[in-house]
Amino acid sequence: MNRREWMALGATTLATGRAGRGQAPARVPQAPANRGLPLEQYQPKSMLHVPETHVPRSRFPLADFHTHITFTSRTDPARIQFNMDPANCLAVMDRKNIRTMVDVTGGYGEGLREAIVKLPEAHPGRFVVFTEPAWTKASEPGYAKLQAGLIEEAHKAGAKGLKVLKTLGLFLREQGSNHLVRIDDPRFDPMWEAVGAMKMPVAIHISDPEAFFLPIDRFNERWEELHAHPDWSFHGKDFPSNRELQEARRNVIRRHPRTQFVCLHFADSEDLPYVAECMDSHPNMHVDIAARIGELGRQPRMARKFFDKYQDRIVFGTDASSDPNTPQQTFGDALYEIYYRFLETQDEYFDYAPAPIPPQGRWRIYGIGLPEQVLRKVYWDNAARLMGLPA
Ligand SMILES: [Zn+2]
Repeated sequence: MNRREWMALGATTLATGRAGRGQAPARVPQAPANRGLPLEQYQPKSMLHVPETHVPRSRFPLADFHTHITFTSRTDPARIQFNMDPANCLAVMDRKNIRTMVDVTGGYGEGLREAIVKLPEAHPGRFVVFTEPAWTKASEPGYAKLQAGLIEEAHKAGAKGLKVLKTLGLFLREQGSNHLVRIDDPRFDPMWEAVGAMKMPVAIHISDPEAFFLPIDRFNERWEELHAHPDWSFHGKDFPSNRELQEARRNVIRRHPRTQFVCLHFADSEDLPYVAECMDSHPNMHVDIAARIGELGRQPRMARKFFDKYQDRIVFGTDASSDPNTPQQTFGDALYEIYYRFLETQDEYFDYAPAPIPPQGRWRIYGIGLPEQVLRKVYWDNAARLMGLPA
C-alpha cells in the first residue's frame, strides 16, 4: 500500500465510523493503480525556499591536493598519459582562484619526468607532481630496496609526494599464489621510511564507501551508483572488509610516525567517529575531502565539529579528472563552485555534484560555513606545509 492509498483508506474508515452502526459501510475509493516510475527517470525538484549562494571564486587561493592531470596504467606506472590539457587547467584555475594543482598520478621513471617537465617546470608554482610505486615489480626479489631507490630518484626529479591508489589492498596480487598483497606488508616499509625521510607526504587511498562492500540489493544506499559501475563493488570474493583495509592502513601509519599520511576521501570513510579516533591516536594522519562532500554535507553538524577539531590536518582536494561519467569529480568550474559553497556557506539542501541525479546516492547536502581562519588552513596552509610550498 502506498501513502496515497493508506491516506484514502484512513479517510474512509473515519467516514464509516461517523456513519454509525447498522448502516452500510461507505465504499473504499480505489486509488489509481501505481504503474511505477523507473528509478532513473525520477528527478524530484526541491520545493524548499532557501538561500542559494553562488560562490564563483574561493575566498582564499587554494591548492587542489588531489587531481589526475595525468594517468598511469594500473599495471605499468612507468608510462603516463595526459588526461587533461595543462592550458585548460590553468584557465579554470585562474577563474576559480586555484593557485596550485597537485597531479597525484605521475607514475615513476620516464613517465614521471615527462609529467614534471610539462607541468611544474613549464608552469612554476602552478603544478605539483607526485610519484607512484612500481607495483609490477612488487613480487620480484629485492623489491623493497629497489622501491626505496625509485623514491629517491623521483625526489631528485622533482616529485613532491607519493600517491598510493587502492591498487594496494584491493587489486595488487602476489605473482604465483594470486593472494592480495596486504597494505601493511613489510616489503613496503623501506618505501614508507624513504618518503618520510625526504619529507614527501603519502596520498593514500585504500578503500571505498562502506556500501561498496555490501550486497548490491534494495537496501544498498548506493544502488544506482553500483548498478552503473558494478566493477566498483568489493562485496564477496576474497576481498577484505572495509574495516580490515582501514586497520591495515592504520598499522602502516603507526609503524612510520615520521611519515605524513594524507588519507584521501576523508580516510575512505563516512564513519567520522572512527576517523576521529584514528586522528587522535596518529598525529601523522591527515585527510583530504576529495569526492566526499556528498558524505560530509549530509552530516553537516558532525562534519563541522570535525573541521573545527582537526583544522590543521584537513586539506582541500577534488579527485578531479576529465571523466564525464563521474560528475562528482569532473574537472571544471561547476565542480569547484559546489565545493566552495559547501565549505563557505550555510546553504541548505543542495546538490553535491553538477548532475541531474545525485550520482553517489539520492540525497542532498548542507554547507558547513567554515570561519576564515579554518578556511585558510584547509584551502592552502595545511597542504603547503605538507609539500614544503611557500606559506
Ligand atoms: Zn583520485
